[in-house]
Amino acid sequence: MSDLRVLSVASEVFPLIKTGGLADVAGALPGALAPLGIAVTTLLPGYPQVMDQLFRPKAVQRWPDLFGGPAALVSAEAAGLALLVLDAPHLYRRSGGPYQDSHGADWTDNAQRFAALALAAAEVGGGLPGGDAPDVVHAHDWQAALAPIYLRFARAEQARRRPATIVTIHNIAFQGQFPASLRAPLRLPPEAFTIDGVEYYGRIGFLKGGLALADHITTVSPTYAIEIQGSEMGMGLEGLLRHRSHVLSGILNGVDIGVWNPATDKHLVAQYDAPRLDDRQRNKAALRQRFGLADDAPGPLASVVSRLSSQKGMDLLLAALPRLIAEGGQLALLGAGDAALQTEIAAAKTRHPGRVGAVFGYDEGLSHLMQGGADTILVPSRFEPCGLTQLYGLRYGAVPLVARVGGLADTIIDANDAALAAGVATGFQFAPVAVHALEAALARAAHLYRDRATWRRIQERGMAMDVSWRRPAAQYADLYKTLADR
Ligand code: ADP
Repeated sequence: MSDLRVLSVASEVFPLIKTGGLADVAGALPGALAPLGIAVTTLLPGYPQVMDQLFRPKAVQRWPDLFGGPAALVSAEAAGLALLVLDAPHLYRRSGGPYQDSHGADWTDNAQRFAALALAAAEVGGGLPGGDAPDVVHAHDWQAALAPIYLRFARAEQARRRPATIVTIHNIAFQGQFPASLRAPLRLPPEAFTIDGVEYYGRIGFLKGGLALADHITTVSPTYAIEIQGSEMGMGLEGLLRHRSHVLSGILNGVDIGVWNPATDKHLVAQYDAPRLDDRQRNKAALRQRFGLADDAPGPLASVVSRLSSQKGMDLLLAALPRLIAEGGQLALLGAGDAALQTEIAAAKTRHPGRVGAVFGYDEGLSHLMQGGADTILVPSRFEPCGLTQLYGLRYGAVPLVARVGGLADTIIDANDAALAAGVATGFQFAPVAVHALEAALARAAHLYRDRATWRRIQERGMAMDVSWRRPAAQYADLYKTLADR
């Protein structure tokens, strides 16, 4: 039987370009699906970093004018991925991030930049002349979410066939909303601008449109799939999601266990595995040195690797920090984002010399060392669709301490008395997501940390968990097959 063909459409793909977990997922899933008879081609924008890394590039489609300039669709390989890259220099070839300029302001033409990506996806989805059409178009987040809309409306008359469509929500906080005046410039026909299409309170909602029309919707954990149907976490889309709950499911993210493997990780000072956990001490020493932390603190060394935003609960952590310090603990934080939070974290570092250290910026290598050296990895998010750093923590023996929300609730087993007695605990959860509950969890962790044998059992239990893509990939494969068979 020939492979099922999937076009995965994403605005970031590890290792080519990454700002967060979406890139990890888009980069790892194709490799995990290949053994299951699913051939994935990944469509992404031709940012400079991406164009520089292409192997065997070949133009397969051209547009004389794609929202203000010429564009080409380039078939290529990079990092073991089969790619289609949308090379539109007027939209993507600029210095700065994928979504923002170097000052942190959103690119003013993001509507055109990502409508172009979705339009290209719809063209490929409908079948390029002389090319194989995919069975499924899988659009990730708002940046790709117009693909089902363009497939439905823009190609309605000329489409030879229409692939099944999936929209995956990696974070519903980012929805891609733009003025209604862009409808015609974005080549959306009037009939797309309705309550069943892209119209959202008088504006154009990219994610909203995709969620309204996709054949299936997934999000990245079962708990988040339920949470986003409620007003607290649905961010205005809960009604639509409840209406479409029969096609909404949650599939947990996995981890690329080749990239994230403490036994072979080149970013570590000392590689180790479960039987050689003592070797982690050398990573811990290196971490303390890197962050200017004292080497005689008796409590756990806690790490944070995170975007600095209100979602991630860094303000809660700052408020609870005195408790961690009082328990003899330390904090090493690696983060980029909100400037006001950075200022507050820097002030905490000054207040607690030798106990709190911070590095601001994005550093993939250091993030590995933090998993390999920290005693505990903290994830106090207010909401968390899946979360990856707690999964890396499990794999690296950095015991996760997490808020009981979304994917964090689904992946960590709290070390309460019953779980400890049953030998199934893998970390610490706290609820509600509030300072007092976080303080209590930090105190619980510090207490158990003093019981070395129990702590080690928690580490070993986490390291034995299967956090790979094996199970999630099988779930995606089943979903693709079901949709393609319809
Ligand atoms: P989100 O996608 O919401 O940012 P996730 O936990 O799903 O959160 O994914 C975050 C990813 O980005 C992880 O791979 C994490 O290690 C990485 N990461 C976040 N901040 C940094 C940073 N400052 N330096 C290096 N890696 C980071």
